[in-house]
Amino acid sequence: MNKYKAVIGLEMHCELKSNSKVFSSGRNSYNEIPNDNISPVDMAFPGILPVVNKKCVHDALMMSMILNCKQPEYMYFDRKNYYYPDLPKGYQITQNTEPVGVDGEITIEVGEKLIPVKIHDIHLEEDAASLDHYYDTSCIDYNRAGVPLLELVTEPCLHSAEEAVAFLEHMRSIYKYCGISEADTKKGQIRCDVNVSIMDEDVTELGTKVEVKNINSFGNVFDAINYEIKRQSELKDQGRYDEVEQETRRFDEESGTTIRMRSKVDALDYKYFVDPNLPKYKITPEWLAEIKREIPALALERKQKYINEYNLSSYDASVIVKEKEYAEYFEELVNLGIDVKTASNWLTTQVLGEINRENISLAEFYLTPSLMKQIIDAQSRGTISSKQAKEIFYKAVEEKKEPKTYLNSDNAQLSDRDELTKLITEIINNNPEQVSQYKSGKTNLFDYFVGQVMKNTRGKANPVITKEILNDLLK
Ligand code: ADP
Ligand code: MG
Repeated sequence: MNKYKAVIGLEMHCELKSNSKVFSSGRNSYNEIPNDNISPVDMAFPGILPVVNKKCVHDALMMSMILNCKQPEYMYFDRKNYYYPDLPKGYQITQNTEPVGVDGEITIEVGEKLIPVKIHDIHLEEDAASLDHYYDTSCIDYNRAGVPLLELVTEPCLHSAEEAVAFLEHMRSIYKYCGISEADTKKGQIRCDVNVSIMDEDVTELGTKVEVKNINSFGNVFDAINYEIKRQSELKDQGRYDEVEQETRRFDEESGTTIRMRSKVDALDYKYFVDPNLPKYKITPEWLAEIKREIPALALERKQKYINEYNLSSYDASVIVKEKEYAEYFEELVNLGIDVKTASNWLTTQVLGEINRENISLAEFYLTPSLMKQIIDAQSRGTISSKQAKEIFYKAVEEKKEPKTYLNSDNAQLSDRDELTKLITEIINNNPEQVSQYKSGKTNLFDYFVGQVMKNTRGKANPVITKEILNDLLK
C-alpha cells in the first residue's frame, strides 16, 4: 500500500489550565452544569471589554520557546469574523498576523528513531461555546466560550500515522510536564485537524490535501490518516486522482471512514483585523528569559539521561518518563542514594502496579520515596529478603504504616552471623549421623541441614548466610 509517499500536516488545539478565561474573569473549569462559568464578556453583552490573561500569555510563550519558535516583540490579537451559534460575538479572538511563535522545530521520537518536526506557528486564541444536539433541539453551553486555547500548526513534514501520533503524544507530554494543560483527550481538551495528501516518491510538488477536522482522540487520528492514505491511493491507482479534492472531511468513528463535509476550494474569508479592544503588549527580553528558566526538564531529555548516564533500558526509561510525577519519584529515590536499577525496578513494577490497581495518582500513593527507602535499605543490608520486602511493601500500603514498623517485628530476617552460627552448631551437634553421611559423600544432605535451620527459625534465617556458615562448619 505504501506505493505513494504520504504527507501530513497537523493542527493541534489544546485547552490551557488557568483560573479564569483568556479574555474574561469567567472561571475556566470543567463544570457539569451548563452556563455556570460565564461572564458578560463570554456572552458578548453590549459594551464588554476583554482583558488578556497574563498567565495564558506566559504559558503560550513557554510553549513557543519549547518549540524553538521565534517570539514576536509585541503580543496582540486579531478578530476572525464568522457567524455560528457557538460564537456569540460573531468573531473569535485569535492571532493571525503575529502569532506567539513562528518557524519552530522540535525533535520527537518515533519508535527508536529521532525525527525533526517543523512548526509553522503556534497561536493563542479563545475556544467557542459548545453545542449539545438533542432529538429536535440544540442547546448552547457557554461554559467553554473564552477558554484559553493554544493552536499549533505543523508544516507538512510528517509521513505516516505513526509519526503523527508520536508527535501528538510528544506534545501532550510537554503540556503536562509544564503544567500548562491537563491535556486530557477524554475531557475534550485536545482536538486535532489532520491534513493528508499523497504524492509519487520522485516528485517534489505536494499533492492535493484533504483536511479531516475536529478529531478528538489519537486513536482516531491514526485511523483517519490511514483511511485517507488508502482512499487517496486507491483513487490514484485507478487514474481518478482528480477526484481527490481540496475539501474538509470528518472522521466517522463507527465506520472508521472519513466523510465529506464541504469543499475548501472557495475558502472562507474571515476579514481578519487587529482587535482594537486589546492593546499591544510588549514582551520584554527579561520576561522571556524568566519564562525560559522555568521550563522543566522534559520527558525525552530525562529519558536520554536515564539511558546514557544511568544505563537503564530504553523500555524502563520510557515507562518512568511517561508521567512527570513518575520521573520525579524516580529521581527522588536516586537522590536518596538508592541504586538506579533498584529504584527503577521498584517504581516500574510494585509502585506503578499498585497505583494502577487502586486507580490513584502517584501523589496520592502512601509510600513516598523516603518511606520506600526504609524498605529498600533493609533489603540491601540483608535484614530482609526480597520476598519479605515485597510483603512489607503491601502491608505498609494497606495499613498505611511506616515500613520500619514491620522491620523490627518478627518479620525481620535473621541475618546475625553469630546468632546463626550458634544455632547451626547446635543443629550439627544434634545430627551426628547425617553429618557423617554428608562427610562420606552424601552431599545432597546439605539441603537437609538448610531445612533444619529454616524449621528452627520459622523460615526467617537469611538463606545466603545460612549456606555460608553450613559450608564452613561441615567442611
Ligand atoms: P489552509 O490554508 O487550508 O489552512 P495551510 O497551508 O495553512 O492550509 O495549512 C494548514 C495545514 O495543512 C498545515 O498543518 C499544513 O502543514 C498542512 N498542509 C498544507 N499543505 C499540505 C499538503 N499538501 N499535504 C498535507 N498537509 C498539508
Ligand atoms: Mg484556528
